[in-house]
Amino acid sequence: MLGPEITHTGKVYLVGAGPGDIGLVTVKGRDLLATCDLIVYDNLFNSSLLGYAGVGCELVDVGKIPGRHTLDQAEINQILVEQARSGKTIVRLKGGDPSVFGRCGEEMTALDAAGVSYELVPGVTAALGCAAYAGIPLTDRDYGSSISFLTGHEDVEKESLRINFGKFAAAGGTLCVYMGMGKLEEIVEKLIAGGLSGDKPSAIVSNGTLPTQRKVLGPLGELVDLARSEGLESPAVIFVGNAVGLAGKNQWFEERPFFGRRFVVTRPKGQSSSLKGMLENLGAEVLELPLIRILPSEDRNLVTEAFAGIATYEWIVFTSANGAREFFRLFFKAFEDIRSFGPMRVACVGEATAAIVRSYNLQVELVPLVSTAEDLARSLIASDSLDSANVLVVTGNRNREVLVELLETVGRAIVDTFPVYGTDFADVVEARNLPDFLRRGADAVIFNSSSAALSYVEQEEDLKLEDGATEPLLCSMGPQTSKTLRENGLKVGIEAETPSLEAVVDCLLKKFGRSS
Ligand code: SAH
Repeated sequence: MLGPEITHTGKVYLVGAGPGDIGLVTVKGRDLLATCDLIVYDNLFNSSLLGYAGVGCELVDVGKIPGRHTLDQAEINQILVEQARSGKTIVRLKGGDPSVFGRCGEEMTALDAAGVSYELVPGVTAALGCAAYAGIPLTDRDYGSSISFLTGHEDVEKESLRINFGKFAAAGGTLCVYMGMGKLEEIVEKLIAGGLSGDKPSAIVSNGTLPTQRKVLGPLGELVDLARSEGLESPAVIFVGNAVGLAGKNQWFEERPFFGRRFVVTRPKGQSSSLKGMLENLGAEVLELPLIRILPSEDRNLVTEAFAGIATYEWIVFTSANGAREFFRLFFKAFEDIRSFGPMRVACVGEATAAIVRSYNLQVELVPLVSTAEDLARSLIASDSLDSANVLVVTGNRNREVLVELLETVGRAIVDTFPVYGTDFADVVEARNLPDFLRRGADAVIFNSSSAALSYVEQEEDLKLEDGATEPLLCSMGPQTSKTLRENGLKVGIEAETPSLEAVVDCLLKKFGRSS
């Protein structure tokens, strides 16, 4: 009999997400996340990976469907089959590698039976990720010539271990035990009973490759006590073997300056990645709670009017990076050629804003030393170029009244304002990281603008931390934001010296960074 017909409409990719650090997903896996129609996942140790999903991609957490129990394997198989049959490209995302304790065999069998095509995309399995980030070699020419991946089965309810640990003790090499924390004592006992010395080098790495990574290294006989005193919990991999004793002294992962620190970034969705990346590279855990959202300008008349006279201005002033970005988006919708920009000079409130203008190969003639709208106005006035000059001020929906007023009254300029975007408070309850923040708190919450600060104040009820959570310091990007926080009765813990992301990172380093 012929097998079931293979459908060519949909396809399932069983993709390894890696052990936690999103940098450890493969390029192929990331590309699939960005282009697929549906991501089916469970027990992800780093939900930031879902940030790679493309616009319109559907996300289904089969570990946690609202109002439902956790789906069993048969139900997950059914979702994969049905969705593939409806023509979707699906990423079935699994922690680590899909073929290592990942039940991918069962999913492949179900897909085969249904005639749905699939591919496997490997990932860095937990043992390899944990070993690397804890500086543990798994093999050594003299001390370890084999590696075994074993499962201890975390389920304490289950009577006995599935694996005969005594036999593996005799086999030697490096043992990597997954899902072993629930039965740690029993596992250690069996290994020693099977002939391993209590001095055998061992280690446990929990939350490996994540900013919350913890580890203990020591002789097998002391492993249970060590794990207990350090409070190590699942998910963890237990390593046993002579090669483990060669663990490096260089603790590169744990010694990064922000290791163990947790910061909250409140920038609008889609704009937090550079700050997030800078903090994560220094070892911090970053939670994203967007407090504001950027809305494009709705006012077509204003846009037409501003562009009609674009060549008549002597100065254009950009007061924010968002404004500059949105201005050029609108500009290139209206004009094909940068020469339509005219001969005007450009002033920007800060370096981040200037960088956007320069990316179009346009010179920026003025960036004030202190990045406030007021200082920009004073520097412009001091340049003696304003008298009766036409100036276009590109803003958000919060008018820059002080700036405009100074330019008009003191500088005697003729000012038009061009609000290219608006900001609105984003509902913090919609942030994926909110429950985590409420439960654990953070070392600092970073405010990049006054509107983010106002949004925080407005939503304080929804931001009440649970008992025991770390109370965060409030970190402000500049004097204006600090003023807004203080005016609303909040204490400013730290303030960046200049309103740039680098300065924010610097001031956090001064406060929280460990010296290496
Ligand atoms: N397919 C996965 C394993 C799934 S079984 C892989 O290849 O890694 C789940 C077990 O993996 C956990 O109980 C733990 O033993 C281990 N694990 C997964 N992620 C881990 C991490 N970040 N740190 C330590 N152990 C981890």
